[in-house]
Amino acid sequence: MENTFDIHNSEIFDSPLSSCPLCSSLHINKLYIITSYSPSFKVDQCSDCNFIFMNPRFNEKTICNMYSNDYYSGAAEYSYYDERKAEKFSNYVWDSRLRALRKYVKSGNFLDIGCAFGGLLKRASKYFTPYGVDLSEYSGKHAKELFGDNIHIGSLNSHPFDYDFFSVVTMIELIEHVADPVSLIKESYKLLKENGLLLLQTANMNAMQAKLLKDKYAMYMPGHLSYFTTRNLTDLLRQAGFRKIKVYYPVEFGLLPKLLKSRYRFKSAFDYIRWLRISYYHCISKIRFGNFAATSSMVVYAFK
Ligand SMILES: [Zn+2]
Repeated sequence: MENTFDIHNSEIFDSPLSSCPLCSSLHINKLYIITSYSPSFKVDQCSDCNFIFMNPRFNEKTICNMYSNDYYSGAAEYSYYDERKAEKFSNYVWDSRLRALRKYVKSGNFLDIGCAFGGLLKRASKYFTPYGVDLSEYSGKHAKELFGDNIHIGSLNSHPFDYDFFSVVTMIELIEHVADPVSLIKESYKLLKENGLLLLQTANMNAMQAKLLKDKYAMYMPGHLSYFTTRNLTDLLRQAGFRKIKVYYPVEFGLLPKLLKSRYRFKSAFDYIRWLRISYYHCISKIRFGNFAATSSMVVYAFK
C-alpha cells in the first residue's frame, strides 16, 4: 500500500467525525498526521475535553484485516507479540496484578475484555471464575479451548453476559482500540456488581513523554482510535457512575515483575543492560505534580 494520506478513500476510512466522541463538543482541532505507518492516518483533539482521536477512523474492514494471524505473530507491520510464547514471563506481571487487585476483591466472576489468548484469565482462574471477550477469531479460539463458552468472540455490543454479574472487569491496553469508549465504560458499569472493580490500563496523553515526542510517540499506531488523559478518563468513569477512582503511576505493582517479564526478549546475558532502561522508566514514572506526569503509563481502578 502506498504511504499517502487520503481521508476520502472509503476503501480504508469511515466518514470523518464532526464532534468529539467523548463529550460531543464541536470544537475539534487537527493535531497530527501520523506518517510512520502505511496507510498514514490523522488524529484530532477536542479543545473542550482534550480527548485525542483518530479522525477519520479506519473502517471495519481495515480494522479486521489488522487483527489477523500476522498481528499476533509479529509478521504484520503493525503487530502484537504472541503472548503464548512469552507466557512464562508474562505470569510475573499477571500474578502481581492479581495480588494487587485481590486486596480489594478476593473472588467472584472475572471478565477480561480483550482477553487475547486468555493468559491473564488462566492465572485469575486460581481465585475467580474466568470470562473473556475478544474480537479476534485467531486468539479467541485459543481462549475458548481453555474456558469454553465463557469466552465470547466478537465485540462487547453482542456479549451474552448478565448485568450485575462480575466482581472484576479488566481492560488492559484495550480502551485505546475502541471507537466508542463511552458505551464501553457504561456497559462495563452495568456488568459489574455493587462494589465491583474495573481495572483499566492505557496511556496518559497529558504526560511529558507524549508531549515531547509529539507525532513520533509510539502510542500513535493504526489500531489506536482513542487517546485519553488521566482527567478525561476519570471524568468519564465518574459520569458512568463509578463512585471511587484510584490512579497508579506507572502501574499498580512494583518494578521487579516488569524486569522479570522483560527477559522473554533476551538473547544473551548482555541483554540485562535493558534492566537499566526499564528501571529508569519506572522511577521517573513516579514523578508527578497534580495533573502533570513524566511518563504516559497509568493504571486506573474504578469501583462501582
Ligand atoms: Zn471532548
